[in-house]
Amino acid sequence: MKILVSSCLLGEDTRYDGANSSVALNPRFRFAQKELFMDIMCENEIFSICPEVAGGLGVPRNKAEIQSHKKPFLVLDEKQNDVTINFLLGAKKALDICLGNGIKVALLKSKSPSCGNKQVYDGTFLGNLIDEKGLTARLLEENSIKVFNEYEIEELNKFIKDNK
Ligand code: SF4
Repeated sequence: MKILVSSCLLGEDTRYDGANSSVALNPRFRFAQKELFMDIMCENEIFSICPEVAGGLGVPRNKAEIQSHKKPFLVLDEKQNDVTINFLLGAKKALDICLGNGIKVALLKSKSPSCGNKQVYDGTFLGNLIDEKGLTARLLEENSIKVFNEYEIEELNKFIKDNK
């Protein structure tokens, strides 16, 4: 199966702080979870994207949070620069990859203002989470692409098996 995956989950240093969110090397995951992640990555066709880099932002970059979750969307970085267009462009590029390659499922990094599929930070830069979606996760789901995060690897595995 073809799967779109957040670059940082694969170990690429694309995060705002110049680091990555590698699942394979994260001590918070049990070995069995890492093994399942690696099996999925090895047995499927993986398309890696960092929407924020694809949208023209650099690494490292200022931390950004969504201020408006409805159109017109608004994303500001911690210095109050408007980076909405970069986030929208990255989301569109991720969607284009999915539509162009027949990708029906994505594994995206949780809590990210681009990739988060369940929760994101609330826009205050105080570390508060709210039940909202990142702009890429939102656009993919609006186009019927199923999105899982790195804590839903078992669910992703079930989806793959059920849709073979
Ligand atoms: S935008 Fe997504 S892929 Fe890029 S660093 Fe943030 S969470 Fe990872």
